[in-house]
Amino acid sequence: MVFLHWKESRENACKHFGVCATNHRMPHKTRVLILGGGFGGLYAALQFEKRRDPRFEVTVVNRENFFLFTPMLHEIAASDLDLTNIVNPVRKMIRRVNFFCGDVDKIDIDKKQVVVSHGFDRHSHTLEYDHLVLALGSVTNFFNLPGVAERALTMKSLGDAIQLRNRVIAHLEEADTECARAERPPLLTFVVAGGGFAGVETIASINDFLRDALPFYPNLKEEMLRLVLVHPGEYILPELGEKLGRYADRKLRERGVEIRAKSKVAAVRPNEIELSDGEKIVSSTLVWTAGISPNPILDRVPCEKERGRVRVNSNLKVEGVDGLWALGDCALVPDPATGKYCPPTAQHASREGKVVARNIIATIYGRPKTPFSFKTLGALAAIGRRTGVARILGINFSGFLAWFLWRGIYWSKLPRTEKKVRVAIDWALDVLFTKDFVQFLDQRALVHTQTETGAAPWNREHLSVAGGVDAGNGAVASTEKPGSAPPATIAA
Ligand SMILES: Cc1cc2nc3c(=O)[nH]c(=O)nc-3n(C[C@H](O)[C@H](O)[C@H](O)COP(=O)(O)OP(=O)(O)OC[C@H]3O[C@@H](n4cnc5c(N)ncnc54)[C@H](O)[C@@H]3O)c2cc1C
Repeated sequence: MVFLHWKESRENACKHFGVCATNHRMPHKTRVLILGGGFGGLYAALQFEKRRDPRFEVTVVNRENFFLFTPMLHEIAASDLDLTNIVNPVRKMIRRVNFFCGDVDKIDIDKKQVVVSHGFDRHSHTLEYDHLVLALGSVTNFFNLPGVAERALTMKSLGDAIQLRNRVIAHLEEADTECARAERPPLLTFVVAGGGFAGVETIASINDFLRDALPFYPNLKEEMLRLVLVHPGEYILPELGEKLGRYADRKLRERGVEIRAKSKVAAVRPNEIELSDGEKIVSSTLVWTAGISPNPILDRVPCEKERGRVRVNSNLKVEGVDGLWALGDCALVPDPATGKYCPPTAQHASREGKVVARNIIATIYGRPKTPFSFKTLGALAAIGRRTGVARILGINFSGFLAWFLWRGIYWSKLPRTEKKVRVAIDWALDVLFTKDFVQFLDQRALVHTQTETGAAPWNREHLSVAGGVDAGNGAVASTEKPGSAPPATIAA
């Protein structure tokens, strides 16, 4: 991390980043700063890593210290995989490229500087660059629908998947109690908005999870469960075409999932989800997968954009801005095959990452740049109960074979052998054992502090800054306040 322009003294800054004060920048090095360590950013970094070119000094900035393999995210929510098996520490993937774990706060393309913050006090630093790669991905868009932002769960990050898993388990635990008998309909109804890949895979996997867990809850019956998928189109998975979409629709319905086609979520209130056709579903859980928009930090970057996405040329370069490149979900990349723009997928982002790195290198060496061109090889979705749908090189697959292809192809794409082995073991164990529905809580254990008066204040705090696993619905998060009366079992 040698091109930092410190706000503090250099010694102080070195302390923050763990770099040595003697590690000063060689004047001839080209400084490449990659913002975002997802599919686009990390694959760009890996390309530089492979080149080992001493002429470049590359740094990746990412909010999390890991790379998330999103195609398998629903398997975390449904307890098919252990929580950390689909994430890889960035530092284990890149050894020669610098990594900075922090938030990008401000991008100044005139001064060629980026302000980042990190640490427990969120202090900031200014990073300087010669070439900047924007790979900041997208964020969930709730389209200002009433109550959605406040109440919906999302399905984009590892935290989202863990939260959904906890929510589902907490609802089963709560609904099983006699005192919650009247609350069972909202507790046991799960609504997913969006019939694309993320929505379909999410509802299919939690449907399997709930039905597998049910035998362990003696007061709950299958007929009490309700899972509803809300989709604006005529059939789900439109990316795979009508035939596969309707197949997936039929399979999900056979397994008890209700599908509301040609419908949208209109509003969310406590224990009620209202659809655009006026139907009101009694439920306290909405999972929102029905819209994304580019990272809002880009709003403040003065360059050409369309609906928030940065427009680039076929070389992934932002025209008219020196040293600026963009890719992935946050960029509009022309697709020469269709004459439109590339879709926001991991397949595209990872390949764009490689091309952007090659083109930055070509710029420095004065070589011709490579235009980005990629024809989607196929698309696959797992739809539960070891079935799937897939369209590969124009050929449709469905059922067990498609599911097997889904697992095989994504498994092969999962970075690092260690994680591949862990995932394979999890999948193998899944054949032998029932699903694990242990809650993953980030609460501190109960503490007891003797005071002068002999009273015993106690608390059960969340250790994480963000707090509760399920504060929104109150099913998991502790509501006790520090110093409030302890329950009888603890007071004894
Ligand atoms: C549930 C789900 C399933 C999916 N399944 C598939 C699939 O099966 N196949 C497929 O091709 N695609 C799939 N996708 C889409 C795919 O994940 C995205 O298209 C891809 O991740 C885009 O790559 P990216 O690099 O543009 O963004 P991302 O991979 O999202 O990376 C952006 C990175 O930037 C970081 N970041 C953002 N803002 C800041 C900030 N201010 N400071 C620091 N860091 C920041 C983020 O933490 C993130 O690591 C799926 C997506 C989801 C959500």
